[in-house]
Amino acid sequence: MSPRSRPVRICTGCGERKEKTEMVRIVADPSGLLIPDLKNNLPSRGAYVCPDARCIDKASAGRLRASLRAPKGSGAGSEGLQEAVAAGYRRRIISLLGQAKKSGRFISGTNLVEGELRRGAQGKWLAILARDVSEDISEKMLRSLESASVPFRFFLGKDELGEILGKSPRSVVLIKDAGIARAIEESLDRYLRVLDKGGLDQ
Ligand SMILES: [Zn+2]
Repeated sequence: MSPRSRPVRICTGCGERKEKTEMVRIVADPSGLLIPDLKNNLPSRGAYVCPDARCIDKASAGRLRASLRAPKGSGAGSEGLQEAVAAGYRRRIISLLGQAKKSGRFISGTNLVEGELRRGAQGKWLAILARDVSEDISEKMLRSLESASVPFRFFLGKDELGEILGKSPRSVVLIKDAGIARAIEESLDRYLRVLDKGGLDQ
């Protein structure tokens, strides 16, 4: 598709026009509760906002409800919406990690990941490091990732990562499926923008 034919929407927060796929669709239920529609498939009228804490704040629950012609005064405010959008992206990342595991193009655990990186990355990979990884492991890992030119993000704790994968606690996972890696990277970056955590350390 040419860029011109991609659907564009206006952010209720900053007022900028952007591609629909770069934005979060918001709908309201009959009580006025604002619901993020990350899959873009809920049937009601939708409003759009950038996946960004400032835009969600500026859009405000009131303005979104007005643009959705939803009842006011019910449901949570913008802060609740920010949490709901972040929770949506978090769920998506966790589900993508599950997909990566099922695809088989995936390894976890410091030693296995190190060994794989030593052989060099083929294609676009992504590493996820637990936020509570020890300093030793983190330093070693970051060196290996850098020399293999594999991007990385910090996400969740060792216990949570292990739990998602049905394993004991994990400090690092390596996603070797380029499509899933890119989808996780995108959702994780949006998740951090929505939480207003610009750095990569959350
Ligand atoms: Zn915006």
